[in-house]
Amino acid sequence: MSMTIEHRTYIEPKDILAFEIRCKLCQAQATYKIEKMQLDRLAVRMICPNCGTDVLLSAEDSPELNRVREFVQSLRRLIQTESRALIRLEITNEPK
Ligand SMILES: [Zn+2]
Repeated sequence: MSMTIEHRTYIEPKDILAFEIRCKLCQAQATYKIEKMQLDRLAVRMICPNCGTDVLLSAEDSPELNRVREFVQSLRRLIQTESRALIRLEITNEPK
């Protein structure tokens, strides 16, 4: 009889601290703290501070920028919501 031990890794919504946005062109990176992200000013700040590339297609109506905005809004609400349940996210253990 063989036994398999499976390790799973979970995080809580409050464990998500920041977005790292990396410019694929010059590799410059910026970290945006979830707590402090100014969502209405995000478009301006998503331009690469190093080479000026539009890192997230920085137009106001950029779909990916809107997804980031929605994600951060949902995450903040989830963190603030009182719940009797422990809500966690499972993350992969697989090395990339
Ligand atoms: Zn860049």
